[in-house]
Amino acid sequence: MASLGHTSTGNLALVNPLQIHGTVAPVLPENLGPRVLELASVLQTTLDIEIQLDLFGKEIQRYLSLDGLSYTLPNGESSYRYGREASERATYALVLHEDSLGSIRVFRDLPFAEHELASLENLLCALIYPLRNALSYKQAVELASRDPLTGVQNRLALTSAMKREIDLARRQGQKLSMLVIDIDHFKAINDRFGHGFGDDILVAVAHTIANTVRRCDLLYRFGGEEFVVLASHTGSDGARLLAERIRENVAALQTVRGRPTDVTVSVGGATLDANDTEESFFERADRALYGAKADGRNRTVFA
Ligand code: GH3
Ligand code: MG
Ligand code: MG
Repeated sequence: MASLGHTSTGNLALVNPLQIHGTVAPVLPENLGPRVLELASVLQTTLDIEIQLDLFGKEIQRYLSLDGLSYTLPNGESSYRYGREASERATYALVLHEDSLGSIRVFRDLPFAEHELASLENLLCALIYPLRNALSYKQAVELASRDPLTGVQNRLALTSAMKREIDLARRQGQKLSMLVIDIDHFKAINDRFGHGFGDDILVAVAHTIANTVRRCDLLYRFGGEEFVVLASHTGSDGARLLAERIRENVAALQTVRGRPTDVTVSVGGATLDANDTEESFFERADRALYGAKADGRNRTVFA
C-alpha cells in the first residue's frame, strides 16, 4: 500500500486481497482485521453506492474524525458527498486488478496523523469488493435502460422515470408535461431507402430531440420510431413551445449521413392532471398524437 500524507494521493492498489482475511500491517494502532471483515460483510448487503458510502463513513468515524468525505465515479462524475470540504485532505484512487473504482477523498481541518490514515486505508479494503459489485450493478442497470441504437434511454427506463417524475411533481406542486413523438411515414423511408438508412434517420431524430430539450428534460425511445419526452417544471404553454421547437428542428434536418431527407415528426402532448395515473397521462398524450397524425402529420396537438 502506498504511504500517504495529508493532501497526497494514495493509490489503494489491493495487490493482496488476503490482507482482508488475515494479517494486517503492523503499523496499525489496533488490530483492525476483524473490523475490516465485519465491515465488508455489512457493505456487501447493498448494491447502492450511496448506502455503502454512508455505512463506510459511519464506520471510519470510529477511528478518525472527519469533516467530510466525497466519492468520485471512475468516469470522473462526482457521485457522493457528505459533510464539507476542509483544508486537509487525503485522496485515494481505488484500483482493483487494474480497474479503476473511482476515488475517495476525506476532509478535515486538522492534519491527519499517520496512524489515522493507516486505519483508513485498512478500512478501505472492506469497501473495495462491495463497491466493485455496486459499480458493476450500476453499469448493468444503465446498459439495460439504454437503447443501443440511439443511445437514449429506453422504455424500461421510462417506466421507472414516469413514476418518479409524477411523484416528484405532485410532492413539489410542480407541473409536468409529456410529449409523445412519432416519425411520419417512417415505413415509407425504410421501404424506399432501406433499413440501414432508416436507422440513421432514427439516430438523427433522437439527437435532434436531445439537442432541443433542456438537459433536465428526459428523453426516451419508447418503441420503433416513437420517442417520449418528460418535461419537468413545464406546464402546457412551455410544453407546446417545446413540442413545436422539436417538430421544427426535425423538419429542418436537410441531410442525414450526406443523403437529402425530408423527415418530419408528429407530436402529441399532455400536462399532468390531478386525477391522472401513469397510464392515463400517457394515453392522453398518445391520443393527442393520433390527432396530429389524423390532422395531416408534421404538427403538434395537445390533450
Ligand atoms: P405514421 O406516419 O402513421 O407514423 O406512419 P409510419 O410509417 O411511421 O408508421 P408505421 O407504424 O406504419 O411504421 C413504423 C415503421 O417503423 C415500421 C417499422 O419497420 C419501422 N421500425 C421500427 N423500428 C425500427 C428500427 O429500429 N429501425 C428501422 N429502420 N425501422 C424501424
Ligand atoms: Mg410513424
Ligand atoms: Mg409509430
